[in-house]
Amino acid sequence: MEKVQGIRVLDGRRELLTETECDFFEEKAGERGLSAVGEQDVVLEFGARSQNEGFARMVTAAFVSGLNPTLEELADIKTAVSEAVTNAIIHAYAGAAGSIRMRLAAQNTEIIIEVADRGVGMEDVEKAMEPMYTTRPELERSGMGFAFMEAFMDELEVQTKPGTGTLIRMKKRIAATEHTD
Ligand code: ATP
Ligand code: MG
Repeated sequence: MEKVQGIRVLDGRRELLTETECDFFEEKAGERGLSAVGEQDVVLEFGARSQNEGFARMVTAAFVSGLNPTLEELADIKTAVSEAVTNAIIHAYAGAAGSIRMRLAAQNTEIIIEVADRGVGMEDVEKAMEPMYTTRPELERSGMGFAFMEAFMDELEVQTKPGTGTLIRMKKRIAATEHTD
């Protein structure tokens, strides 16, 4: 059986992905799935430093605000982005220099956010995504990052390969609200 290299969680259902079902690893490792394919997409690349986490959150908030989210939706999305970016900083590169690419896209009322690193990747993605599983307990990590991303977003996809990197793809539908102001 082909090795599991990814997981897609949609409506609480988990689907295991083999490498052929992933779009992140071939040829341009670290870049596939992250080019600005839509006219309104935003793609940015920044250094894997904790100072840049706030920057990623703010850019995301600015992008999403164009879709008229509720404050709760906005908070959920910012939290999910923080968890993904923090993981890239502390796990993928473990303090070493590296870069993180992020893509923001919107399809009608759905927001799509991708966070990708070219760091160490994960040997066992199923295990890594279990709530309370962490490989860094000494850093007082609680192992809840993936659980939050899953809870706050409608869809979460993780593609990863040891030595190549990790791609997190998250989607969330923004409730269409009429604003009179
Ligand atoms: P918390 O997010 O609660 O601070 P955590 O980061 O350990 O703790 P998760 O975010 O759920 O918990 O991640 C679980 C595990 O998955 C991590 O401990 C790490 O081993 C692995 N992991 C997550 N993201 C990456 C990544 N981008 N690259 C490599 N390993 C990762
Ligand atoms: Mg985490």
